[in-house]
Amino acid sequence: MKVGLISQLSDQKLVGHLVTKTYFSGMNQRAVFPYILILLLGCISLYGQRFEEPLSARTDNYDIQLFLDTDKKQVKANQTVTFRNPSADTIRTMPFHMYYNAFKNNRSNFNTGYSGIPRDIPQEEKENGIWGWVEVLSVKNEQGEPLESRYIQPDDDNVNDHTVLEVVLEKPIPPFGTKTLEMEWHSQVPKAKARTGYNKDYFFMVQWYPKLGVYEPAGSRFAEVGAWNCHQYHPSTEYFGEFGVYQVEVDVPKEYVTGGSGFVLNETTEGDRKKVTYLAEDVIDFAWTAHPGFLEIKDEWKGVEIKLLVRPEHECNKERFLLSAKHTLDFFEEYIEPYPYPTLTIVSPPFYGLFSGAMEYPTLITSPTLCDLPLGIKTTETLTIHELTHQYFMQMIATNEQEEPWMDEGFTSFFEAKILDQYYPEGVVYFDYFDVQIDATEFRRGRFMATENPKASALSDWGYQTISRSTRDIVYGKAAVGLMTLEGLVGDAMMKDIIRAYFKRWKFKHPCRHDFLDVVQEVTTSQLGDSLAAPINTFLQDFMYSTEVCDYSVHSIDNFEEPEALGFFENTSDVRLPSANYQGIKKSKVVVWRNGEFIVPQEIRVTFEDGEEIIEYWDGKARIYEIFYEGKSNVVCAEMDPFQKIPFDNNHINNSQNLKQEKSGITRYFVSFLTWLENAMITASTLV
Ligand SMILES: [Zn+2]
Repeated sequence: MKVGLISQLSDQKLVGHLVTKTYFSGMNQRAVFPYILILLLGCISLYGQRFEEPLSARTDNYDIQLFLDTDKKQVKANQTVTFRNPSADTIRTMPFHMYYNAFKNNRSNFNTGYSGIPRDIPQEEKENGIWGWVEVLSVKNEQGEPLESRYIQPDDDNVNDHTVLEVVLEKPIPPFGTKTLEMEWHSQVPKAKARTGYNKDYFFMVQWYPKLGVYEPAGSRFAEVGAWNCHQYHPSTEYFGEFGVYQVEVDVPKEYVTGGSGFVLNETTEGDRKKVTYLAEDVIDFAWTAHPGFLEIKDEWKGVEIKLLVRPEHECNKERFLLSAKHTLDFFEEYIEPYPYPTLTIVSPPFYGLFSGAMEYPTLITSPTLCDLPLGIKTTETLTIHELTHQYFMQMIATNEQEEPWMDEGFTSFFEAKILDQYYPEGVVYFDYFDVQIDATEFRRGRFMATENPKASALSDWGYQTISRSTRDIVYGKAAVGLMTLEGLVGDAMMKDIIRAYFKRWKFKHPCRHDFLDVVQEVTTSQLGDSLAAPINTFLQDFMYSTEVCDYSVHSIDNFEEPEALGFFENTSDVRLPSANYQGIKKSKVVVWRNGEFIVPQEIRVTFEDGEEIIEYWDGKARIYEIFYEGKSNVVCAEMDPFQKIPFDNNHINNSQNLKQEKSGITRYFVSFLTWLENAMITASTLV
């Protein structure tokens, strides 16, 4: 258990002046109370059961029947959408995401500049999904009357972008009223595009249906007045969806093995076709897959059915998938609360289905694998843990990934590292040579530190408006490292309190960064008081809004005797000259620097020749901070952040100085290891 840098300062103020006279003498470690695990789900099987009580407000609800033509790679569908107005507003339109239209032409926002179509492409492929699209054939109201619809561009004026369709209602939806639309639509499934589509006989169907936007009442997230949030499909970000219930009937050739969000409600076979009906409750989206080559391997975790859809050649890795999934479920049961859904489906795509990537959808994740991966390389585990962690953030907390992608990827990456480091302590994420192992925490840090431009964007910048590789590294890496630093400041126990409070308040709603900041402020203020909570809040503000970097260093260590007083003092006639037996007072000075703009409180470990160690606390604000000692043995070593609570510091190499070589062995090796590591990370970041 790590004690927080600030949370241990209950009787010791951070210092910002020159001399530290009183030294902190004992850890005021918080008592650790065992958490009572409520094994509510422990012995009750949830397979195929509806929730007795809704978990969410169930605002956008779908009933879809679809037919998949596996020859033409087309879908025909009817869908009923029932929307409950969550506000006191009168609503006159309903916008739908039409994600497949991102692939309709090369002038869409997603495809702009795309010209990678070879001239000699076979006719079959020209027709089957080089251009993917979705088209609504009719929209009707409850009385069966047709309604008008039109493509709109809420984010720009690109009229060739058809990724949002607005349905104009004949009669407005009254405050807190309900509206049901009957839609008929068809689509051309794209060939292996941005996580979705088909290749050969593998169909991975995500962002595949007309999907209603999220209505945000005034006061929620950034909304000043009630409005729909329904962005176009941009290449740089993922999605945002409203909670609801999906009942989806999938009609496929009977030899196809299917998987979907939620659980199987019903399955029937007729001739050479079969119909599988899924029910997914309190989810923000519905994903499904169909492929004749899947093996379905079933397992179970405390009443939750785990289905692994995997190719026979990847079956050898089934334990790696299942064990890492169970570790993740165990972890969150203890850290936050039990996984509430009755099923979890893990899809391991065939080699030619790698376009479906490693990705998260409600109760369904993809995690590619290779059987010849050595045990030391934990890619299968890392991806399974990462995508499953998203169930807590992308799915249950359901932040807006198009606007604030870090609030999903950052928290997910933070926990991915924590889970890997806990369950695979000798775990190797990407490297295992020269006996050097890189843990998940270091990997995340490396991703941010090695990014091409760490100032490319602030976390507060809208995700869909920023397109650069560096931004992705910032969204994943900087956000994760910032949360690790927050944990370093408050300690493991308070971090858990913060996450639990955040989750309790915001699950099945849609928080934004202000909501997270409010929770941090409330928890830290109640546990630490105003003055110690203040630097934590400052840190978080900088972390979210600034592009500045954090770098502290030890500049110098000086051991000296105070020179004798020489010259004129009381008058100008008596000069003091050097005396033969002068014995000066021994003094030492340690100088540390703040090199970056970012301010984080610091611990400095000062080691003396006689073995004494002192931990100094500094508010980190001044550019130069000097610590003086009198009457002690020589200072031999000074280290910033000796307990590695501030991974946000972007240069660890300048964090320590040693005067005595024989005592500096470990530190020297540590520093050279870090140098190697930081170089390795730069290499790694070009590989993933
Ligand atoms: Zn992710």
